[in-house]
Amino acid sequence: MDPASSFPDDAFRVLSHDVRLIALVALEDAQTADSFAADPVSYSELADRVDDYHAEAFDRDAGNFDYHLRKLREAGFISRVDGGYRIRQAGVQVVRAIRAGDITDRGGFETVTIDEPCPYCGGTSAITLEDDWLFIHCLDCVGAFAQDESLPAGTLAGFEVSPTGIRNREPLEAFRTAFRMGMQVHRLFAAGICPECSGTTTTHTLETCPAHDPGGSGVCPECGRTTEEFFAISCDVCQRSLMSFPAIVVATDPHVIAVMYERGRDVTDQTWIALSKPPDWPCRSVETDPAVLEYTIPVPDGEAIRVRLDDSLTVTICNP
Ligand SMILES: [Zn+2]
Ligand SMILES: [Zn+2]
Ligand SMILES: [Zn+2]
Repeated sequence: MDPASSFPDDAFRVLSHDVRLIALVALEDAQTADSFAADPVSYSELADRVDDYHAEAFDRDAGNFDYHLRKLREAGFISRVDGGYRIRQAGVQVVRAIRAGDITDRGGFETVTIDEPCPYCGGTSAITLEDDWLFIHCLDCVGAFAQDESLPAGTLAGFEVSPTGIRNREPLEAFRTAFRMGMQVHRLFAAGICPECSGTTTTHTLETCPAHDPGGSGVCPECGRTTEEFFAISCDVCQRSLMSFPAIVVATDPHVIAVMYERGRDVTDQTWIALSKPPDWPCRSVETDPAVLEYTIPVPDGEAIRVRLDDSLTVTICNP
């Protein structure tokens, strides 16, 4: 995709005016939490509301305000309906981003060691916040991403967090929050839906290393990674991506959880730390191009469950 053609230059220009942003916030305020569609806000009420927010600089000259509203309408942020104006989804997104991005009382912390042993080596693990990412990492081993030197040493898992995700939360609680969000991100990508913009997705990599041996350095010469299995998927529209372990997609699949439960293994009570390391179920590649992986999941009752994961991250149970 040509970046120039997709750059939302016009949308940003439309939003680069206080009166327009305040009009959006005022319209969004008119929506109530207990109904799907708010009553339209009339032109004069909207002007009053903007005036309240913006008393000093707001010029109530009718032609001028009308011009700003027309700009918002043309860009698809609001619509004009019988009785006034309504905010549209794109406008709601902008207002939510403004509210969630308010970082004036943002929390933050340095590296904090936690009371959970590293699931790989039993050593000490810690949580670090770095550029809106929360990492859990081991202080005693190479972790799961030794191939990526840009990550904190010993990284076991990393999750994107918004400023609101860490505000008013202790580090461990913030990590649990980020982890839960991360699991939802896995579920949505596995359903072919971008968690950011609901666009379509493409899987770029789905593989297990045929001769995996990370050795002392933690990086396998065959695949160039620490972990044997890996996938990468991204949104075709906004380019949001996820790089993770296929076993997490399998382990969080509702059918797999249900079948495992029936066979005497309840995975719903797993603590978050258990999933910062993917389950080490035996995995083999059954097809390449497009790739299909097969996992064998041991269960207490009867024969192990065999599960296939295909290129679209769809999970199929082979022996129900
Ligand atoms: Zn460790
Ligand atoms: Zn390898
Ligand atoms: Zn997207």
